[in-house]
Amino acid sequence: MFFYVRGAQSILCMDSQQQSVFRDIPSVNDCMGWLVASGTLDDIPLQRLKFCVRHFLDIVRQSIQTNRKTGAIVSDRQRLLEELAHFVRQYHGLGLRRVINGTGVIVHTNMGRSLLPMGTMATLRAAAAHYSNLELNLDTGKRGSRYHHVEGLLCELTGAESALVVNNNAAAVLLALETLASGKEVIVSRGQLVEIGGSFRIPDIMRRSGARLVEVGTTNRTHLRDYQQAITDDTGLLLRVHCSNYRIIGFTSEVNDAELIGLGKKHDLPVMEDLGSGCLIDLSRFGLAKEPTVQEAVAGGMDIVTFSGDKLLGGPQAGILVGRKYYIDQIKNNPLNRALRIDKLTLAALESVLRLYLDEAQALREIPTLAMIALPEAVLAERARALCEQCHVLLADYAVFTVQRTCSQVGGGAMPEQNLASWAVAVEPIALKISQLERRLRQTSVPVIGRVEADRLLFDLRTIAADETDILLAGLQAALQPGRDERT
Ligand SMILES: *Cc1c(COP(=O)(O)O)cnc(C)c1O
Repeated sequence: MFFYVRGAQSILCMDSQQQSVFRDIPSVNDCMGWLVASGTLDDIPLQRLKFCVRHFLDIVRQSIQTNRKTGAIVSDRQRLLEELAHFVRQYHGLGLRRVINGTGVIVHTNMGRSLLPMGTMATLRAAAAHYSNLELNLDTGKRGSRYHHVEGLLCELTGAESALVVNNNAAAVLLALETLASGKEVIVSRGQLVEIGGSFRIPDIMRRSGARLVEVGTTNRTHLRDYQQAITDDTGLLLRVHCSNYRIIGFTSEVNDAELIGLGKKHDLPVMEDLGSGCLIDLSRFGLAKEPTVQEAVAGGMDIVTFSGDKLLGGPQAGILVGRKYYIDQIKNNPLNRALRIDKLTLAALESVLRLYLDEAQALREIPTLAMIALPEAVLAERARALCEQCHVLLADYAVFTVQRTCSQVGGGAMPEQNLASWAVAVEPIALKISQLERRLRQTSVPVIGRVEADRLLFDLRTIAADETDILLAGLQAALQPGRDERT
């Protein structure tokens, strides 16, 4: 909005022209009267309306002091009223809203990571609307454990002895470290001291857990003897962290799982792996590099494996711990676990998604994160051609549309340098700058997010569902056609 300018200048600094503009500002009551009479905001409670009007008038006052152009608008009652109504609509709109993800980044943390399968929606609705046996054992009638509902499934799918679920993987790592290594030393390779977006950094989490970080090796090379030499009576855990969002290439070496597990055994120390994304299906068949699956880490003898619920697993936000019962039991009994407990909706969604993995083909079909990875290039090319044609028919006067090969990414910090061949519609607006088009698209009723590449705005069909192209088209119409939204 043009007069969203904040300043705190004193009224004493105003010249007489500004003061007269000030006197022109309508009262809260006048504004309320107009809005109610206009009948366009009937769905908004009066109390909310009044709050918005006050807020709006404050902004107008502030803006008069910093921006002379505002004066003209204050004297144009019709324009002022339009601005006010627009402001109220924006303000009253839902904070968390649907958007169209045209970036081609499948697990996009800023846009909610994984989408849940259609079948999971019914499960979620039932769990939300009705009472459930969340912590009720239906056999005995006594209190049960909420984790019971997914623990068996997790063990069955990963081959682990025991499992636990907390709020997210950051919490899982923190909880495991606090339980097993508080007041002790944890040995980590210097090549694995990762920072994930949103300020999850291994050294910081370690400090918070009360464990002492012992770094070994170098950035590019760490050997088994580095770990060996660092083990003392104070050592509590050997930690391996998956380099989710970066790669060290060239003259490199890391100790493999088997060697590290062997060393742990020899010294009677637990070995833990933060897998990050944590996938249950080998995705190399879709052209991605082979990543260790959770099952492989467990079968290899890792004592504790942690991973996210909403990255490659394709479920709700959660942090999953699987591994040896001896350690997982200790983690379960940590009072901190209660503070990190997941809610029933997460639990319902997670159980529903995990059940799909009982049949791999079904998982690949129904879990959107996996289905998007599995989408064949030819399908995407065809959909891009069809969308481009529609755009051209509707909007050829305002932009040039082309079909373009592009690369989608898994995202979520997983597989950073891995690309999936894909197809996009590229937009080159005729009268707008790319940045203007991007901003307008963010302000349409369902915001549309694309990716800028070489002065074109790209919409990668891999992350746009087949039934979302109409919304995308409507967004492009609203953003490209002049006079649609002058305020931006
Ligand atoms: C993503 C990630 C985390 C954090 O997981 P959240 O579920 O986002 O808390 C921790 N460690 C690694 C290696 C990761 O990739």
